[in-house]
Amino acid sequence: MATDGPLPDSVDILVVGGGNAAFCAALSARESGASVLMLERSCEDESGGNSRFTAGAIRCVYDGVDDLKRLMPDLTNLEIEQTDFGTYTQEQFFDDMGKVTEYRCDPDLVELLVTRSRETMLWMQKKKVRFQPIWGRQAFKVDGRFKFWGGLTVEAWGGGPGLVDALTNAAQKAGIDICYQARALSLIGDELGVRGVNVKHKGQIHEVQAKAVVLASGGFEANHEWRARYLGPGWDLAKVRGSRFNTGDGIRMALDIGAAPYGHWSGCHAVGWDRNAPEFGDLDVGDGFQKHSYPFAIMLNANGERFVDEGADFRNYTYAKYGGVILSQPGQFAWQIFDTKTKHLQRDEYRIRQVTKVSAETLEELVQKLDGVNAARALETIKVFNAAVQQDIPFNPNIKDGRGTEGLTIPKSNWANIIDEGPFEAFAVTCGITFTFGGLRIDVTGKVLSSDLEPIPGLFAAGELVGGIFYSNYPGGTGLMSGSVFGRLSGASAARHVGAEISMNEHQ
Ligand SMILES: Cc1cc2nc3c(=O)[nH]c(=O)nc-3n(C[C@H](O)[C@H](O)[C@H](O)COP(=O)(O)OP(=O)(O)OC[C@H]3O[C@@H](n4cnc5c(N)ncnc54)[C@H](O)[C@@H]3O)c2cc1C
Repeated sequence: MATDGPLPDSVDILVVGGGNAAFCAALSARESGASVLMLERSCEDESGGNSRFTAGAIRCVYDGVDDLKRLMPDLTNLEIEQTDFGTYTQEQFFDDMGKVTEYRCDPDLVELLVTRSRETMLWMQKKKVRFQPIWGRQAFKVDGRFKFWGGLTVEAWGGGPGLVDALTNAAQKAGIDICYQARALSLIGDELGVRGVNVKHKGQIHEVQAKAVVLASGGFEANHEWRARYLGPGWDLAKVRGSRFNTGDGIRMALDIGAAPYGHWSGCHAVGWDRNAPEFGDLDVGDGFQKHSYPFAIMLNANGERFVDEGADFRNYTYAKYGGVILSQPGQFAWQIFDTKTKHLQRDEYRIRQVTKVSAETLEELVQKLDGVNAARALETIKVFNAAVQQDIPFNPNIKDGRGTEGLTIPKSNWANIIDEGPFEAFAVTCGITFTFGGLRIDVTGKVLSSDLEPIPGLFAAGELVGGIFYSNYPGGTGLMSGSVFGRLSGASAARHVGAEISMNEHQ
């Protein structure tokens, strides 16, 4: 239940954070009967961290429609008949993680992520989190049948807000206390053992003793200074897609007592995001500022030039690194150009009210409207692109169709279409950072390791602040899955630690 009164002096297990990873850790810890308190830095209305901002897309293993039916019992026979769900096997998930991280990801952590994804989803479902297929975003209808692509098939009912609400209900039902506007400041203890947390709550500093602490307070994406320091010059200029509260507190607190940093500290997940979006995420818009239909468009920078292969792969496998590519362009922006033929493939987010968009009947008129762009060069680039499209290869958005370009320095490898039929549309994007990849080092039980690579007794971690899972890139839907798998794992390990501590005290 939400704790409005004073913070308790002590609790068995203290979970820092209020997003998906924190809830999964708290729910799992609570199964042992231990008392659990969650500290959420934000007020209740803004709670849920980045998890609330998501569409709720969650990547998990399934060997066929029977697995999906178990997870989503509401699936009707008609829906099943009309859909080719394919499979997403463990091997496919492993391959995707290896491929997108250039085989840098920690094999032990990824093994847990992949092999526990299905059972963790079923565990969440038992806690009354509901799921549904992502009809709208991950499947195109071909010959009257939906076909899913890219390994991402399931989303939480009601998206991120639905997920956080369901988890909050589950936590309340389980008797977990949640304290809002409670910012963890530092850990009590050292690398030989953690005994609680110093907390700022309603303008006062409190000490809360705990037998175990699970850190699940997100990455450092909302910290301008750390972004410039670790991600590099220019990253302080990125917009933050989600929560303003993920400023790296949990990481800092653990490093302060000797925890090991791990993973890709100069790497992050960042996407093309509306150029005029606010500094931090806006819960009313959610992920609507993203502009993810670029595989069916071309992108031009301020010089009027293309700068990336928009069709290198399915959106799921490129979107998380293209934000950084946009950030490195002059002025940190780009325009996505569509003609009428591909307009129907634009995702919902292209139709939100708060969109930076221009339209024109002719290309000559359109390039004049592209704010900040060399118009003459832009027109030339489009003409050269059009001449290079391999028109003899049929266009098919469901597969990597190989309909690319010939002879361009920067090719477009799939889904290339001549941009020649008005009205034309262009959307201005900049870089929106989602979350950072570097963080703490955990072992396969979720224990935080010291820089001597020894577990710090009583300290566990899950979610965005765990390093070693993502490097350079990321397969869509894996952030939530990682938070769920490692949250559940670290919560259970924290409970075992508490159990062991209690029985040790009883025998003394
Ligand atoms: C716009 C957007 C869309 C996304 N879409 C998807 C998607 O569809 N699928 C997917 O898998 N991933 C998606 N992601 C990524 C996903 O949100 C994250 O990977 C995941 O939610 C991280 O979960 P978490 O619990 O680790 O962190 P969060 O959900 O961010 O939770 C961290 C929590 O810690 C709290 N906190 C921070 N500091 C403190 C402190 N000092 N004391 C107490 N509390 C603190 C914060 O307030 C927050 O509640 C998206 C992200 C964004 C921003």
